[in-house]
Amino acid sequence: MQVHNFNAGPCPLPKEVVESTINAIRNFDNTGVGLMEISHRTPGWERTMAETRQLWRDLLNIPAEYEVLFLGGGASTQFFTVPANFLNKKAAYLQTGVWAKKAAKEAKLFGEVKIVASSEDKNYTYIPQGYEIPTDADYFHITTNNTIYGTEIKYDMDNVPVKFIADMSSDIMSRPVDVTKYAMIYGGAQKNVGPAGVTFVIVRKDLLGQITDRQYMNPLPTMVDYRTHAAEEAKNISMFNTPPVLPIFVMHETLQWVKNLGGVEAMNKLNTKKSAMLYEEIDRNSMFVGTAEKDSRSIMNHCFVMAEGREGLNDAFAAFAKERGMIGIKGHRSVGGFRASLYNAVTIEDVEALIQCMQDFEKANK
Ligand SMILES: *Cc1c(COP(=O)(O)O)cnc(C)c1O
Repeated sequence: MQVHNFNAGPCPLPKEVVESTINAIRNFDNTGVGLMEISHRTPGWERTMAETRQLWRDLLNIPAEYEVLFLGGGASTQFFTVPANFLNKKAAYLQTGVWAKKAAKEAKLFGEVKIVASSEDKNYTYIPQGYEIPTDADYFHITTNNTIYGTEIKYDMDNVPVKFIADMSSDIMSRPVDVTKYAMIYGGAQKNVGPAGVTFVIVRKDLLGQITDRQYMNPLPTMVDYRTHAAEEAKNISMFNTPPVLPIFVMHETLQWVKNLGGVEAMNKLNTKKSAMLYEEIDRNSMFVGTAEKDSRSIMNHCFVMAEGREGLNDAFAAFAKERGMIGIKGHRSVGGFRASLYNAVTIEDVEALIQCMQDFEKANK
């Protein structure tokens, strides 16, 4: 049976990427040595590092004053590394979900945290509007895509009066981003740009090293200071310690795949189409109802539950979909129901198969 993988992350990678990685694991860069067995100081690897950085720069038009870093520890490690590098006295956070809340919690270790707005009152089903960002904050932090709830800030905000920092773990490379509006963008690779095990950090280097007033974690531990990892950027290599070679290689192949398909504009077009197809079915199908408010809907994660009066069919649909090869559509426990994640590597055919499954279920239970 053909399977259709809608996992929220880790999630499907392009078939070509998996194939080229298998080949590299056997024999990296015609060295006769496998990718996991080379030294990270071999020229072939240094070239791969430099190319991966360049792919990021090309795909997102990242200006020269930004560093592109590949670190370990996942996006969750950035939750404390961000305030460690940027929070002197006070930071502002927009609380649009559990990831945003976790990020703010870590910042509290370093100083005052102002939650400018939260949608927790309605289980994070919408993106708050009309709040004020304090101008005396060191930075303002957002989570662009709320993976668990299927809401998304699909544009780059204007007029943020302080340094602007975004966790883009689950929508990076799904659309064009105006990097110049941000002081920093970060995320785990395992949703749109590779496997788990590497975290991307895009940071404006002239804004680093400005922690003066703070007592806690000052000076910074070496590994926590972004400047440590940026130091060798001149060579475009930047390997203070052993980097996660395998995940970075997969990221290289994934970004090359994005580039070959026409870059982030092409991805955005495809993602918008896939997303509209599925939301149209969720809204049409009498069995289901979407959970996120329409104007806040994510084009990456699509959350829906059984319609009123149909709640008893939840497990029946889960089993029905499983029999038809649908993988990873169970909703997060804090939302319930179902969630279909349509990241870059999910195909139109996958979406069509899910829609067919939803229609068949409706017919079978009318
Ligand atoms: C998955 C996710 C995280 C957590 O990433 P890890 O790499 O597992 O630490 C953080 N933020 C968002 C928005 C996510 O989707």
